[in-house]
Amino acid sequence: ATGTATVNGHVSVSSPLNGSTERIQIVDEEKKFTLDLGAQIEKWGLRNEGFAYNIVSVFGSQSTGKSTLLNRLFGTTFDVMDETKRQQTTKGIWMCRGKDMSVMVMDVEGTDGRERGEDQDFERKSALFSLASSEILIVNLWEHQVGLYQGANMGLLKTVFEVNLGLFGKKAKDGTSGRTLLLFVIRDHIGQTPLANLQATLTADLNRIWESLSKPTDLKDLKLSDYFDLAFTALPHKILSADKFESEVQQLRTRFADKSSPDYLFKPVYHKRIPADGVAFYMEGIWEQVQTNKDLDLPTQQELLAQFRCDEISAVALSEFNEQAKSQKRPVEAGKVVEGLGGMMRAWRTDALTRYDRDASRYHKGVYGRKRADLIAALDSTLSPLFLGQLKNLHKSCLVAFKKEMLDGLRGESYSFADVVAKARRRCEGNFSEGAKEALVEDADWSWEDELQLLQEEVGVVADQCRKDETKKMLNQIERNIKKQISEPVELHLSRPSKGMWDEILQTFREVLSKAESAYLSKAKSFDCTEEENTVSLAVLRKRAWLALRAKIDEQTADQAFLSKLRNHFEERFRYDESGVPRVWKPDDDIDSAFKKAKDQTLELVPLYSRISPEDDSLAFSLPSESSDSLAGTDEFDFESTLLVFSETKAVELTNKFRKDADAYYVEAKRSTVSSVAQ
Ligand code: GDP
Ligand code: MG
Repeated sequence: ATGTATVNGHVSVSSPLNGSTERIQIVDEEKKFTLDLGAQIEKWGLRNEGFAYNIVSVFGSQSTGKSTLLNRLFGTTFDVMDETKRQQTTKGIWMCRGKDMSVMVMDVEGTDGRERGEDQDFERKSALFSLASSEILIVNLWEHQVGLYQGANMGLLKTVFEVNLGLFGKKAKDGTSGRTLLLFVIRDHIGQTPLANLQATLTADLNRIWESLSKPTDLKDLKLSDYFDLAFTALPHKILSADKFESEVQQLRTRFADKSSPDYLFKPVYHKRIPADGVAFYMEGIWEQVQTNKDLDLPTQQELLAQFRCDEISAVALSEFNEQAKSQKRPVEAGKVVEGLGGMMRAWRTDALTRYDRDASRYHKGVYGRKRADLIAALDSTLSPLFLGQLKNLHKSCLVAFKKEMLDGLRGESYSFADVVAKARRRCEGNFSEGAKEALVEDADWSWEDELQLLQEEVGVVADQCRKDETKKMLNQIERNIKKQISEPVELHLSRPSKGMWDEILQTFREVLSKAESAYLSKAKSFDCTEEENTVSLAVLRKRAWLALRAKIDEQTADQAFLSKLRNHFEERFRYDESGVPRVWKPDDDIDSAFKKAKDQTLELVPLYSRISPEDDSLAFSLPSESSDSLAGTDEFDFESTLLVFSETKAVELTNKFRKDADAYYVEAKRSTVSSVAQ
């Protein structure tokens, strides 16, 4: 029947009933072990059975109907001797899968010494080989062989016992597994001697053989029953009682096939605990050891098996894993932040470990554990670059997003720089941390905090740069405002020369500057500017304001502009009387005095304009001078010299120019009297 069955704690789906029963010669006449057992076990459909399979082998003299029995019991296809030729058929060791049963059956070459001359060697080797793997050893013998202590059978059993001591001696002492069932099948049982008597005779013989063995001292007290369970059964003559033979064989078959049978033979304690997918490798190793006459050390064999199989299983898991991991390698290397990478990585990793655990956990625990750790290291060494790549890409994209958010945030008119930075920074770090955490693989020893710190530093640099740019922009804006605000007042004051002219200009300047400074400070608050930066910015602001003022003054006192101011001033005094009425010169008028007076009054303006100097000393403005320093990028700035509007020489030059203009007015005035006389 199909369905699930629990065998030795392992759940397995029973193999298909139509599984192949093709046989295979696993050891040939030349004592060579086959290369095809692994593939054959696969074909039999047993490879994935774990521990849910059994192994049974048969021993006995040649031509005692062993192959015939196995074929009847298990539905195997071993060769049976042709009655008419009567020659030996089974050479070496054959194996076949039981029909509808998860059983591997071994048919071992008849061993009574006659078939291979005095080849006791092969007998010993096959005994070792069978015991190392079989749960049940069927000992097949004719009824008339019972009690013949000198018979070939007894020699064989002695060999089996000796070999067993070597293999499982210590194990039995530990109380661990290593028990084997010896099932005696007495053939051509006539019935005259009851089975119980035959059983007693055989048991006595076996114990006698056991006593006669030379055992190592530490195993001296151990009894036959510490290693073996004994079972006995008899079968009628196959030809003389054909029907009875058939029915009893069927009954015996049930004891192998039906787990619920009260005398079910495959007890878990006999199992040699070799996972089905390791049987081929294990048997080959055993045969190799047997062949080279090395001491057969089963624990070592099982460890070797475990190493080999765990490596194989691990390699399969790893290659599937690598295939999966490869899919995301390129995008990560290309700089992409792969959505859900952590989830994928965790799934690949879990898959690989699950695959490994499923098959490898049946093997030697220590080896399984070590290889598992190796596998984890291999998995993580593949994942680690993906993780680091993802972090790097995440870092880059978060930084780009941060810059963009900063630019967008600083675009409008009214914003708080500090708020814009804080918001962008929070989002940037939040996105990074979230992405980094997603990419983590639990219990891999990875961290992303260092990368976050790097990102924070770069964000800081960007924010700082933005702040500097913003400060610069703001200073320029304030400077433009200053220029706008001083332009008109300065023009006005300079066009109305008076003693207090500079006081008024400086007064205006101070007011404008002071407003500018508080404008700066109130904006700078949201920029998180440092005290030092504020000091520097304010100094820059004052200097720029002063230079703006100076530029305006220069514009207003440029040669032509200044000369026209002088001309106006002169004209107002020379061509108009005190009440602002244009003068019409008469011959008697004292043109000379009027001219001189107007000219002197006008020339007084030259020293007034030539230097910025208020009447009220408290209005005097001052800036620290700077010496030129090519390293600091500062030009020479001598405040004192900026107070000078024009130099002594310039003053003389302007005075002379003005004189010529004034003279022209004088001549014109003179001429006008002449012409009025002439009329
Ligand atoms: P093996 O060499 O032990 O594998 O023996 P085989 O199974 O090849 O059988 C040897 C011969 O014994 C064949 O001719 C069988 O027909 C015959 N044979 C098989 N079973 C029995 C049996 O139960 N009783 C007798 N008398 N002959 C049998
Ligand atoms: Mg045979």
